Amino acid sequence: MRELTHFIDGAHVAGASGRFSDVFDPSTGAVQARVPLASVEEVQAAVTSAESAQLVWGSWNPQRRARVLLSFLDLVAKDTPNLARLLSSEHGKTLDDAKGDIQRGVEVIEFAAGGPHLLKGEYTSGAGTGIDVYSMRQPLGVVAGITPFNFPAMIPLWKMGPALAAGNAFILKPSERDPSVPLRLAELFLEAGLPAGVLNVVNGDKGAVDAILHDHRVKAVGFVGSTPIAQYIYSTAAANGKRAQCFGGAKNHMIVMPDADLDQVADALIGAGYGSAGERCMAISVAVPVGAEAADALAAKLSERVSQLKVGPALGGDSDYGPLVTREALDRVAGYIQTGIDEGATLLADGRGLEVPGYEKGFYLGPTLFDHVTTDMTIYREEVFGPVLVIARADDYEQALAMASEHEFGNGVAIFTRDGDAARDFAARVNVGMVGVNVPIPVPIAYHTFGGWKKSGFGDLNQHGPDAFRFYTKTKTVTSRWPSGIKEGASFVIPTMH
Ligand code: NAD
Repeated sequence: MRELTHFIDGAHVAGASGRFSDVFDPSTGAVQARVPLASVEEVQAAVTSAESAQLVWGSWNPQRRARVLLSFLDLVAKDTPNLARLLSSEHGKTLDDAKGDIQRGVEVIEFAAGGPHLLKGEYTSGAGTGIDVYSMRQPLGVVAGITPFNFPAMIPLWKMGPALAAGNAFILKPSERDPSVPLRLAELFLEAGLPAGVLNVVNGDKGAVDAILHDHRVKAVGFVGSTPIAQYIYSTAAANGKRAQCFGGAKNHMIVMPDADLDQVADALIGAGYGSAGERCMAISVAVPVGAEAADALAAKLSERVSQLKVGPALGGDSDYGPLVTREALDRVAGYIQTGIDEGATLLADGRGLEVPGYEKGFYLGPTLFDHVTTDMTIYREEVFGPVLVIARADDYEQALAMASEHEFGNGVAIFTRDGDAARDFAARVNVGMVGVNVPIPVPIAYHTFGGWKKSGFGDLNQHGPDAFRFYTKTKTVTSRWPSGIKEGASFVIPTMH
């Protein structure tokens, strides 16, 4: 059995806690490796290494740091076929989807390599007599990222790119479900010239996370995962004096206006609802057709397309999507399907019990489609995180807008329409962080920011884009007076500028 490691101080380090978690190949259902779960002492060792490495890394000029990111990009480009296979084999997403996962992360490293521009401060000449004021952005020191299983390349890179470019040292605690790609990324960074200790990967579960949260040397925590854990990490980090930005779960609606092209809509829903087995925070899980005519036509088109989807092994070549990440995830999603039936939704396609020949023990679930789902049902209110799409009908535009706006999650939303007025009104009024107009998955590009609202995001800054540099730096403001010889005598009132 392959035994994975931590990556501390520039080297692979065997786990010493005696605790391990299984890493599966979801396509076959077999355990393919075990990953160590770090103890408090192992996390502390990583932080100690990071703390001293940061003193050197943070003293390099920004452009020299950026060159390491650029070298890393070259190495990732060469290693992408290997990284993608590794990713697919632990996560279960198809090879092309795994390449997209890597590419989305790469784009944030490309953006972060332009970091020197975003680290520039501000300057005011002559704020008072002989007084100049300037501000500078300085690294926080040691910062941490805690990331989910569903994007094992992209999300660690979202976090570490801007943090490293800004001069911080970084502790990554990736998901214990698919830790091999994050470990490989750390190796590539070392090869690219990152000093040992600037990037450490500690594998683990709640124990490792709590050790990070309670270590006073860690100054900021960036988290992505489910909402209950996001809330826990946000409040614990804040109570321990850390900066935190914590992104949680989702229930993304797609509003389908009666004038929309329903074939385009159906294709968009199939890709966004079932791609990556629905295990994306930006997956569309609720279709909201406006009016009975659009709803009936859409339900028919979706039913037909769903019946043609190919579900199979991640590395099988022609699968539209692969297995779920674990047996536990499969059982949880199957449980939601049963709840949907019990609560009275109309099941149009049932993916349970799917067997893929030759892969009978894999964690497969066929595409599942419900109609006539209402806002009080569990499958409408909760995040299912699987290949389950529900149709929740709306009588008119205002009702559809209210459904998306009033849902407790506010990650992403989309509207499909040919009416510019409706699209513009929707984008302005909907109470959700990321909006797609005729685009099913509105994931912004690297130089814009990304983050959900309501129970999908906690903290006041978003991920990547300029917000990431604000999050991973602190601003110092310097007020200076030259010439220094001005004599005004002692003053006992607060200085004001005349
Ligand atoms: P998760 O919350 O189970 O795990 C996320 C991280 O938290 C992992 O590193 C895990 O080890 C750690 N963790 C788990 N339980 C913990 C506990 N009790 N205490 C401390 N740490 C704990 O999430 P997941 O299943 O890996 O990922 C799927 C979730 O992530 C979905 O809810 C999805 O919507 C969300 N997600 C959100 C975004 C976004 O940008 N909003 C992006 C991707 C995924």
